[in-house]
Amino acid sequence: MDGTSQLDLAIVGAGPCGIAAGVAARRAGLDARLFDRGPLTSSLVDYPPYMTFFSSADRLEVGGVPFVIDRGKPGREEALAYYRRVAEHFELDVHQYEEVTEVDGEKGDFLLSTRETRGEGATHRYGARVVVVATGAFHEANRLGVPGEDRPKVKHYYDEPQPYWDQDVVVVGGGNSAVEASLEVYRAGGRVTFVHFADELDEGVKPWIRPDIENRFSKGEIPVRWRTRIQEITASTVVLRDVDTGETDEIQNDWVLAMTGWRPDPGLLRSMGVTVDEETREPAFDPDTMETDVEGVYVAGVLAAGDDANRIFIENGRHHGRKIVKHLVEGREAATAVETGVEA
Ligand SMILES: Cc1cc2nc3c(=O)[nH]c(=O)nc-3n(C[C@H](O)[C@H](O)[C@H](O)COP(=O)(O)OP(=O)(O)OC[C@H]3O[C@@H](n4cnc5c(N)ncnc54)[C@H](O)[C@@H]3O)c2cc1C
Repeated sequence: MDGTSQLDLAIVGAGPCGIAAGVAARRAGLDARLFDRGPLTSSLVDYPPYMTFFSSADRLEVGGVPFVIDRGKPGREEALAYYRRVAEHFELDVHQYEEVTEVDGEKGDFLLSTRETRGEGATHRYGARVVVVATGAFHEANRLGVPGEDRPKVKHYYDEPQPYWDQDVVVVGGGNSAVEASLEVYRAGGRVTFVHFADELDEGVKPWIRPDIENRFSKGEIPVRWRTRIQEITASTVVLRDVDTGETDEIQNDWVLAMTGWRPDPGLLRSMGVTVDEETREPAFDPDTMETDVEGVYVAGVLAAGDDANRIFIENGRHHGRKIVKHLVEGREAATAVETGVEA
């Protein structure tokens, strides 16, 4: 084992919600260590560089550290700088580039196995009394499941518009990512066709971009295909299928941006014995304490929502850490009271 001391908490995942759990632990005087297979807030690192959060800065704050910006909604750089500052301010113990590969044991005596994701891939082991799993929802993209999806022209992420100038681009999806990618690519001179299986945009589309895309649709500047699915992706075309009539047509195409969301990997939770719903991938946990059905194993952040990543995000997931630490502290107080004969 690396080091002789046992951690009070091992937190797997140093995204905003893992950080919030680390801060809550630090404030309660608990010895917590965070592990991330990438850098701090690696999910945010992968955001498109020019994105704007739908949340205002105050709703992304953790640990009461003010997130002050000089305009309405923060962008990626501001959020990255903010979470770095929080980690520094609370002197969080973060092991970056160290993936947690296995957790054995039970409450009070867990053993974590890790592997460094840079360098020589060194492996380590750590003891921890409890484990918080905050591994997020960006493990794998929701696939379209159609022939041709593995072609290099199909992207499940979008970062910037330049590669799509003067190109025929199909954007698939109905949420913020699809809308933002469409608008940016359109403005950078790409020919966008917007394809969505439903007959309207997702409810959560940011109110300040909705009129923009709707105007582009109504003016025909971005052709929209409602109630349509991709049937096949060929080297130079995409075959579209009308959901209601089943009719198909084929359009010229250079790139497909499949903005169809991401899903979590509940593998680590399952390996620890936590019940995870087969269909929704939602782990079994008590919403008051965030403890799963395995004693001493907690979930935090968007992972707790299973496949429905729109239900938990930073705004609400940032409060999970406090619940977890409250539960731990109350448990300790109760245990001390029993030991000393004082009623808790
Ligand atoms: C473009 C975009 C815009 C968004 N805008 C907003 C917004 O405005 N407001 C909002 O509230 N939310 C927003 N979200 C959602 C938000 O990013 C997520 O809800 C948030 O990242 C969840 O935080 P988390 O800490 O639960 O998980 P994550 O941020 O995903 O962090 C999980 C971490 O766990 C690490 N990890 C995974 N497995 C392991 C392992 N085995 N060992 C070690 N580390 C591991 C990952 O590397 C990752 O760093 C947006 C998302 C996107 C994509």
